Amino acid sequence: MPSMIPYDNLAKVNEKYTLLFKSRFNSFLEKGWYILGEEVKRFQEDFAAFNGVRNCVGVANGLDALIIALKALELPSESEIIVPSNTYIATILAIVHAGHKPILVEPNLRTYNIDPTKIESAITNKTKAIIVVHLYGKCCEMGPIKMIAEKYQLQIIEDCAQAHGAKYKGKIAGSFGVFAAFSFYPSKNLGALGDAGAILTNNDQLAKNVIQLRNYGSDRKYYNEVIGLNSRLDELQAIFLQIKLPYLKMINEHKRKLAKLYLENLKNDFILPVVQEDYYDVYHIFNIRHPKRDALRAYLQKKGIATEIHYPVSPNMQKALISILGHQSFPISEEIHATTLSLPISFCHTEADILYVIDAMNGF
Ligand SMILES: *Cc1c(COP(=O)(O)O)cnc(C)c1O
Repeated sequence: MPSMIPYDNLAKVNEKYTLLFKSRFNSFLEKGWYILGEEVKRFQEDFAAFNGVRNCVGVANGLDALIIALKALELPSESEIIVPSNTYIATILAIVHAGHKPILVEPNLRTYNIDPTKIESAITNKTKAIIVVHLYGKCCEMGPIKMIAEKYQLQIIEDCAQAHGAKYKGKIAGSFGVFAAFSFYPSKNLGALGDAGAILTNNDQLAKNVIQLRNYGSDRKYYNEVIGLNSRLDELQAIFLQIKLPYLKMINEHKRKLAKLYLENLKNDFILPVVQEDYYDVYHIFNIRHPKRDALRAYLQKKGIATEIHYPVSPNMQKALISILGHQSFPISEEIHATTLSLPISFCHTEADILYVIDAMNGF
């Protein structure tokens, strides 16, 4: 049976901007300026203002945002960087690409975010930074994490790829660390029409490092100061992002409304995401857990409901990482990866769609 309820439908998500996209694309064509011009500059200003952070630097994607942020810190090579064991693999790959060693720390089984009580025992004299990942659109427990970082003088980098506009105690994701890395991959809460990313920082000197690193280590054409990359945000993607940014709050509110329907109506056979005071969650992903996850997923598919698994394989079990991490076990991550299921929660879904999903779920 074809899906009546798709997991997502990006053409539908982007439909409402069609006229604006077309008119701005036409002037882009007429102007003929493609790389690092006024449009990237304007989006950087808009996104910095949205997050209340001094500097925003557009880059090619979220993985590069993390790599460049790590490189800009100029840490000794082979530094140990703490990272949650259940993150999307990009966060861990960035540490490896930047020449450092990922140290995986288990998440809390209720929030799915790095467990602050497990961080201190992972710290050694080689530990230089923590990358927090605000997974599924919920902020990490930044209060306790900041205290640990200060005690051991560790830098905090935020992976905000799933948390555009999320908040902890009224403070927005991306304003806690020395750097924040964003992805605008098309399906993220703020998504481009291709690959795109950005780095935020309140530190003007570090912003300069990032500006050089994304463009061959140069901020003056043909004069190269450091070993840089080619990782620039396109002018065209910057235009699309400028158009969509003013709607981000509305997109987040829509997802929160759909999440509320799930939270209030799903039966308690399913382990639901926690809702806590002090957190404004933006539900990039709405995940539930169930011991018979695979059977549940097949059952929903038969009812015409598409779901996803974020993620089917725990990073420590990924072939690519075993040579770097060795054979370590992370029981909490493995439990999450074995039981998690992501339900439809896109801007393209209506409340009626979600009620249909809830009905089907409760009949499992
Ligand atoms: C999407 C994502 C990334 C990577 O972003 P890309 O733009 O695809 O490179 C990094 N971390 C997390 C948590 C993500 O969800």
